[in-house]
Amino acid sequence: MRPTLCLTREVESLREQVSALILLNKVFADAEGLRSRVQMALAVLMRAVGASYCLLECSFSLGEDTFQSLQLGTEPTGALHKALQEHAQAARESRQLLRQDNIIAVPLCVQDLGLGAMTLLVAEDFPPDRVKIVETAAQQVAAIIYAADLLRREREAGDQLRELDKMRSDFVAMVSHELRTPLTCIKGFVDTLLRSDINWSETEQGEFLRSIKLSSEQALRVVEDLLSVQQAGQGKVAIVAKTIDLGHLVAESCRRAQSTSSNHTILWTVPATLPIVRADFVRLSQVMDNLLHNAIKYSPLGGEVHVRVRGMLGEVEVAVIDHGVGIPPAQLGRVFDQFYRIDNSLSRKTEGLGLGLAIVRTIVLLHGGRVWAESSPGTGSTFYFTIPN
Ligand code: ADP
Repeated sequence: MRPTLCLTREVESLREQVSALILLNKVFADAEGLRSRVQMALAVLMRAVGASYCLLECSFSLGEDTFQSLQLGTEPTGALHKALQEHAQAARESRQLLRQDNIIAVPLCVQDLGLGAMTLLVAEDFPPDRVKIVETAAQQVAAIIYAADLLRREREAGDQLRELDKMRSDFVAMVSHELRTPLTCIKGFVDTLLRSDINWSETEQGEFLRSIKLSSEQALRVVEDLLSVQQAGQGKVAIVAKTIDLGHLVAESCRRAQSTSSNHTILWTVPATLPIVRADFVRLSQVMDNLLHNAIKYSPLGGEVHVRVRGMLGEVEVAVIDHGVGIPPAQLGRVFDQFYRIDNSLSRKTEGLGLGLAIVRTIVLLHGGRVWAESSPGTGSTFYFTIPN
């Protein structure tokens, strides 16, 4: 062949390759959606190289715009179909371009990442210099798939950040609300007591001071609950187990609870002899205080709250029984979760962060005990926990 003719053919081939790639780029820039963009790019490529069939298999997770495989052209049957599938798999696994007769299989790779393979059915006399177009197109397809996946991940990360930010501001709002209520109450009563124009009687002063005491206890509880949850999250809730008198602990907690409510009657039953348990007195008092506080809070009409202690086989069981609003069965399993509050008109009115029962569960489990609840809406609830002896 004459050198000038050779050169002309080479230039012509290069021109064709460049225009096919320019067209591919345009397709990527124009079409919307990953699948349709890849589909159009493959159509352009098939036309440019005169391929009759194209199979693109993608093993990448691409969220909503995902595709596992794309086929264009007439799918071959029989042995050809089998050979095509085998080439696709071999190119994917070896990450190398494979050519045999009228099959060209190219891996889809971005850096070290294998994304799949693109396999074409071409004419038997397909010129070897055109393989470069197929290879370049495969690189572009891989890059576009990779970029789409990065974009999706970035979007997801953004969504997660926004969600976290919302949780953070909800949390701040919730804690501020929980602290503002008792602090406003304390300020109100202190201002009242400080009024120089009124001489309050001793009984009145005593009532104001009792209200101040209750509100400071409420604020302190919020802070203590938050601290306990933070310590539990960091695995820092330490249990200092000593031999304790559980009957005495229960009686003390019940008296404390009684002093906070004149609407409720707190009763407790402790057998004369109780198996000795080793437990953390302060932490177990926190468990009792939380359960009794709830029993009172969720029995808005008053009534009796009964604490029953009994020795069982290998453990001591404590039950806190109320006759309050109760808990719907579907929510019974979730009340021990952190920040879980049942959304009803009562819980909207009562203060609380949804941490009390999560703390109860953490402390009881750290003692090697069990904790659960039984309830029926409108009738009342019983919260149980056990401590091994
Ligand atoms: P909080 O009382 O601060 O909301 P808790 O973790 O102590 O948080 O309780 C979680 C939820 O379980 C409460 O919001 C309430 O709906 C429900 N609950 C807890 N104790 C009782 C009870 N004795 N009676 C009815 N509902 C209860």
